[in-house]
Amino acid sequence: MALVVKKFGGSSVATTDKILAVAQRILSEKKPDDKIVVVVSAMGKTTDNLITLASGIDTQPYKARYAREMDMLLTTGEQVSIALLAMAFKKLGQPAISLTGAQVGMRTNSVHTKGRILGIKPKRVHEELNKGQIVVVAGFQGADKFGDPVTLGRGGSDTSAVALAGALKADECEIFTDVDGVYSADPRIVKGARKMKEITYFEMLEMARLGAGVMQPRSVEMGQFFNIPIHVRSTFTKETGTIIREDYTVEEKDFEIRGVAHDMKVAKISVIGVPNNPGVAHTLFKALADANIDVDMIVQSIRNIDRNINDIVFTINLSDLAEAKKVIGATSEKINAAHVLVEEDMAKVSIVGAGMLGSPGVAARMFGALARADVNIDIISTSEISVSCLVKGSQVTEAVNSIHDEFFPDSL
Ligand code: ADP
Ligand code: ASP
Ligand code: MG
Repeated sequence: MALVVKKFGGSSVATTDKILAVAQRILSEKKPDDKIVVVVSAMGKTTDNLITLASGIDTQPYKARYAREMDMLLTTGEQVSIALLAMAFKKLGQPAISLTGAQVGMRTNSVHTKGRILGIKPKRVHEELNKGQIVVVAGFQGADKFGDPVTLGRGGSDTSAVALAGALKADECEIFTDVDGVYSADPRIVKGARKMKEITYFEMLEMARLGAGVMQPRSVEMGQFFNIPIHVRSTFTKETGTIIREDYTVEEKDFEIRGVAHDMKVAKISVIGVPNNPGVAHTLFKALADANIDVDMIVQSIRNIDRNINDIVFTINLSDLAEAKKVIGATSEKINAAHVLVEEDMAKVSIVGAGMLGSPGVAARMFGALARADVNIDIISTSEISVSCLVKGSQVTEAVNSIHDEFFPDSL
């Protein structure tokens, strides 16, 4: 007997036919004693459509003052899928029950639209499994201390699934999606991207953080926390996908680069001409932090030594831009900034790999690949296991392909 958590993403449950196919597949692979929890996302583009619907009320529905109501709206998407999938199981003769995030005891903080899981008490899930039911759970959502629905950020169903697998001490967590594993780059934009048999939590977390949308970064953190191997695989084929785990077991470890990630949802903000005084950066970034806006690449440079003036340039997620503009508008006066520039057509391309530690030539090779593709680098940042470059959004395909060709020439 095994307890397995299986997560199906939006494209896997995009139509009622696909939902029936998911139910059939699960039942065809289920052994009689298996206990199965299925986490599902909203059907197809439902979440995007709900956001568009809200923009009919205000063109910027992600403003802080709407956050609670956005969650009330967005959580309906997953509720449609769980109801339909539970019905599909019943049609096939399998007892099943649909449960919302609140009903499975998924407690979150109250940071609406960007919630974090504080704890899970899955008593109800155990009870229903013990009655022989397949439990179908709404991904992407939990409830805060008031019982209000809170969503976990885009792609959050991955995190729901892995967290639930951890809390239930599941034997396995499978993430079913529209690709058959994790690749060395997004296979939608790099034709020769290579599928990995395995990747460590450490490297996958960095890939995800830098834009590899196949897994939400927090889901990888959860997997590492609970030490649950995560199997990323295709909904539409039966072949083995990629296992995300603590350490490699089958593949060689001595590759310099594990993959190339890119992120198109980046805005660059330049706060120009601020006094070079203690406390200026603190005032600016504290105001952004208080508004729950994550700041990524940060560069401060001297604009004018004689007048003791700096420029502070940083990047944020595009979805935070409306709120960030408001915060910066108020703060730039406080810190006496000369002006603020916003650029929306930006992208971040990154290389990731624990093997690059101690290989000084790796960054130079990445910059060379960008130069060959005639891509200008705006900002460079590094972490222990990654190098990232901010480039023009319109050049991201050339940039990623050129870098991939440099490090994975065999795939050509
Ligand atoms: P789901 O709806 O199943 O959660 P997502 O769209 O969130 O699916 O994630 C799957 C997509 O992630 C793929 O279609 C692919 O375009 C994208 N992706 C980005 N980087 C990678 C990568 N390195 N490996 C595999 N897929 C990737
Ligand atoms: N439906 C949500 C989204 O589109 C959550 C998810 O798919 O993981 O972001
Ligand atoms: Mg996803």
